Amino acid sequence: MNDFAVLSTGRKMPLVGLGTWKSEPGQVKQAVIWALQSGYRHIDCAPIYGNEPEIGEAFQEMMGPEKGIRREDVFVTSKLWNTKHHPDDVEPCSPKNLSYIVVVLNLNDNNSVLQVESHPYLAQVELLAHCRDRSLVMTAYSPLGSPDRAWKHPEEPVLLEEPAIAALAKKYNKTPAQIIIRWQTQRGVVTIPKSITESRIKENIQVFDFTLEPEEMNQVTAVHRGWRYIVPTITVDGKSVPRDAAHPHYPFNDPY
Ligand code: NAP
Repeated sequence: MNDFAVLSTGRKMPLVGLGTWKSEPGQVKQAVIWALQSGYRHIDCAPIYGNEPEIGEAFQEMMGPEKGIRREDVFVTSKLWNTKHHPDDVEPCSPKNLSYIVVVLNLNDNNSVLQVESHPYLAQVELLAHCRDRSLVMTAYSPLGSPDRAWKHPEEPVLLEEPAIAALAKKYNKTPAQIIIRWQTQRGVVTIPKSITESRIKENIQVFDFTLEPEEMNQVTAVHRGWRYIVPTITVDGKSVPRDAAHPHYPFNDPY
């Protein structure tokens, strides 16, 4: 049901995982349970999302002897904020919270996993080629355009309404979200769509029963417009502007 990418360590990483940013306590446990019941074996977390203890509860409830899911079969990613580089900072990130963890991005990823924003409006073609050359697996965050972000702007492009994607959805009797997730998985990119809605959680992993034609893969890639939804901003003189954009190491001026 859920294909895998193989990391340079030999470990298998399911191509579709459940995102959990913005999944509030009170909602996230049920979302993770629905995901595990629907065949997800990859959950994307972070202490900064403020919900890992409840995700840990879902794991306790669903995994273990006689519960049908083995802990070692579930790929869990957690990540540390950029100020957490000391080994002592790792402990709050998960063993205690989540009981079981496979990858802590930034510190313990064996240089085999890279997580970046990617979706058809930010196709990351150059970065993906770079990753392939170096046997790195790319994970796409905000794969559906992160429509529940607090800073969503009314004039920004709406990925899930993109006509080229809607046309493919109609052809395959799938939803735009499924076309987008299929496009990523078909080019070997791991995706971690977030949802707290049972039907969408199920829908987002039902992407392994159809195949986009090579030309259709190109059509989806062609809607790229270098659009980044996840840009930290600050307010200067009453205007919202990208934070640190003038810094020499600001990452988002590069073509990926
Ligand atoms: P996303 O997955 O692109 O979009 C989530 C939104 O799409 C939610 O509003 C969800 O609604 C809705 N949705 C889900 N499935 C849908 C479907 N089939 N049809 C229509 N709408 C659907 O946004 P994201 O949360 O920004 O990104 C995904 C995950 O990536 C995060 O949760 C997080 O785990 C990770 N992430 C990592 C970083 C990083 O810096 N490393 C940054 C951003 C995100 P409902 O929930 O209401 O169903």
